[in-house]
Amino acid sequence: DIALHGIEKSFGKLQALKPIDLHINNGDFVCLLGPSGCGKTTLLRIIGGLENADEGRIQFSDRLIFDQAKKINVQPQKRKIGMVFQDFALWPHMTVFENVAYGLRAQGRKAEVKDKVSEALANVQLGEHAKRYPHQLSGGQQQRVAIARAIANDPEIILMDEPLSALDATLRDEMRILLQSLVKKLGMTAIYVTHDQHEAMTMADQIVVMNDGNIMQQGSPEDVYREPENETVARFVGKGA
Ligand code: ATP
Repeated sequence: DIALHGIEKSFGKLQALKPIDLHINNGDFVCLLGPSGCGKTTLLRIIGGLENADEGRIQFSDRLIFDQAKKINVQPQKRKIGMVFQDFALWPHMTVFENVAYGLRAQGRKAEVKDKVSEALANVQLGEHAKRYPHQLSGGQQQRVAIARAIANDPEIILMDEPLSALDATLRDEMRILLQSLVKKLGMTAIYVTHDQHEAMTMADQIVVMNDGNIMQQGSPEDVYREPENETVARFVGKGA
């Protein structure tokens, strides 16, 4: 499980995250949903270790990943996470194969590189394109490379920040299905940031609705839609006030 206790983050005077407590079960596909600026990306980056919280602690099952009070802060590459970003963030001068291999090489898993990269590329149906460069691929294919890179070293958790927002609507639908089934097949826990209600409703096992640095509600899509805890949530999941 993933457990966050009292996570706080300020940027100057702006309190981007008020104390956040959050519990996520292993294997769940969780969508962080909320309007622009509510703190979704900041929370994801703190879980991934790209940003440090000012207060609080984070536990992955029995591993303490971050504890401000105890000065514990496990490096991102040791957290057993994969990350996928909106802008793909591929290396333009490296082939598809090398982009996916990068993390494995950095971890010193040289003997496994060939098998792991082939397996990851096959999982995103890109086995044929291993020798191409990112600019020789469509946007959807580039994002599949980024997903392959994120899953190649067997993470327990995959963190995704609006990964489909740069793609057109048809491709987004296709990629949602691919992502969802892949995450389930690999048995990973997924945390997926979106401001798109439809996306959250169709993909999530659990939705976490955020607003203004707070968590407003956590529940299944059905629960959040049928029984929004307040008007902000109701408005945001499309029920009107
Ligand atoms: P969006 O959907 O637009 O990406 P979000 O919900 O992901 O929004 P965050 O990116 O987490 O929101 O930002 C939360 C707040 O913190 C915003 O007001 C943002 O301007 C501010 N913020 C985020 N990162 C920084 C930073 N490095 N320096 C200063 N302010 C920041």
